[in-house]
Amino acid sequence: MTGITILGSTGSIGLSTLDVLAQQKERFQVIALTANTQVERLFQQCQAVSPEFAVMVDADAAEQLEKKIKQAGLATQVRQGLAGLIEVASLAQTDYVMAAIVGGAGLLPTLAAAEAGKRVLLANKEALVMSGHLFMDAVQKSGAELLPIDSEHNAIFQSLPENYHNGLAAAGVRKILLTGSGGPFRNTPLDELHRVTPEQACAHPNWSMGRKISVDSATMMNKGLELIEACWLFATSPDKIEIVVHPQSIIHSMVEYVDGSVLAQMGMPDMRTPIAHALAWPQRMPSGVERLDFFSGVQLEFQKPDYKRFPCLRLAEEAIRNGGTMPAILNAANEVAVQAFLEQRLAFTAIADLVENVMQTISSREAGSLEVILEDDALAREAADRQLLAG
Ligand code: NAD
Ligand code: MG
Repeated sequence: MTGITILGSTGSIGLSTLDVLAQQKERFQVIALTANTQVERLFQQCQAVSPEFAVMVDADAAEQLEKKIKQAGLATQVRQGLAGLIEVASLAQTDYVMAAIVGGAGLLPTLAAAEAGKRVLLANKEALVMSGHLFMDAVQKSGAELLPIDSEHNAIFQSLPENYHNGLAAAGVRKILLTGSGGPFRNTPLDELHRVTPEQACAHPNWSMGRKISVDSATMMNKGLELIEACWLFATSPDKIEIVVHPQSIIHSMVEYVDGSVLAQMGMPDMRTPIAHALAWPQRMPSGVERLDFFSGVQLEFQKPDYKRFPCLRLAEEAIRNGGTMPAILNAANEVAVQAFLEQRLAFTAIADLVENVMQTISSREAGSLEVILEDDALAREAADRQLLAG
């Protein structure tokens, strides 16, 4: 049996992971589940899969969960806080860690899993954006296996040759083609963008996801974060990555080789495919995902990204070229801005403005240690908060 910890089990990726695991009960055993505040949902998950540990980040929520677990006569032990997350990410009986916490909050537990040499199924792209260098070093040092869950990176991974670790050029790769749907506002008139609502932004045309990544998809900051994520995962630079808008999300990304071959990974837009791929790798197993039916009117369209409509793309490119802690600063400012937008304290179009202002306020440094990264993350959040207050 393979033991698995799911960080962020109550979220969209967490639920899809549990769904895939429910189809593979003889093969995987859930060791630990974690959530931020959702007591009832985590309790139900504990009833369904009887993990050894359940972590609630929030202390009051942890107490409530513990009560329910005792009343139900379950053997699950409850832990709380960041310490609890780090503990269950590095348990000896855990072989695989699904890193599916949203945002910078996932950094330390995800890093702990990498340092402990686990197979890390990485959904939490913000962790890699913030600490790419440190994270990849930790993976290498511990011998952890890093498998991308983000559908694009999983598609790229599937389309690369096995020896890509020796360098993309040596493997005959000319370019990575990173696809993105363009989100719900691809065709919205530019002068209407400033008044779109959180509900409209979260209604993604192809994917059902958590609210933060849904807003990131609407601004295309998600594609910008993914560009940075791809640079670290595949040890390459932004000039080797081309963003291709593909509204249908049937192709999940591509790799172009020097001989003119382009390999694509396709399928229905359902995260259970990359999740099952990374769980079973290097083998394959069923995921429960519907077949891609080529005779149902599947369309494959492609467009250039519109940098005027999506200024976050440019900001993310600037951040990775600038290097050091700038991607962490970009990410932190974006998290504050997205939260403010979701709470209707900031207009949709002001998200990019706020991120850009914070990037201009705080200078980046070499991202040499976790302390430096976390310090600049905190500085960026403070600067973003100040700008929000200043209106
Ligand atoms: P979500 O909002 O649905 O779930 C987030 C999970 O993280 C929840 O379990 C929540 O309890 C937990 N969490 C939230 N704040 C926390 C905190 N401060 N401390 C500890 N735990 C906390 O998000 P999601 O859509 O599942 O996305 C999770 C991650 O996966 C994100 O980084 C996202 O970019 C990435 N991702 C998601 C999708 C998708 O289809 N949903 C696709 C690709 C990548
Ligand atoms: Mg993605």
